[in-house]
Amino acid sequence: MGTIFDKIISREIAADIVYEDDLLLAFKDIAPKAPVHYLIIPKQPIATLNDANPEHQALLGQMMLTAAKLAKEAGVAEGGYRVQMNCNPDGGQVVYHIHLHLMGGRAFSA
Ligand code: 5GP
Repeated sequence: MGTIFDKIISREIAADIVYEDDLLLAFKDIAPKAPVHYLIIPKQPIATLNDANPEHQALLGQMMLTAAKLAKEAGVAEGGYRVQMNCNPDGGQVVYHIHLHLMGGRAFSA
């Protein structure tokens, strides 16, 4: 079963897209927790980090490098930012299509 992120990838649901390539899509979080709050997702649906395997190694690396690139473009790289991936209920995961949260533009504690 697909998630809301599949509908964003297929443009059935609108999102404020900030980056796209063959493998990844990045868009603004609908409920931002920081002035810059992007979600970086693979177009391929992987439900949780637990479902990733060595075949996904390059894809996961690309997600991280894209986070750094978008942080730079958003002007938060020097000040700093947070990159986070939630896994399963205790990790706070709500959408079961892996995604990196890129959050910046304010200071985070702990
Ligand atoms: P999770 O808790 O699964 O790590 O984070 C899911 C994130 O997706 C949340 O921060 C939530 O605000 C965001 N989100 C959920 N539905 C939508 C949507 O339809 N559009 C956008 N842009 N973000 C969404």
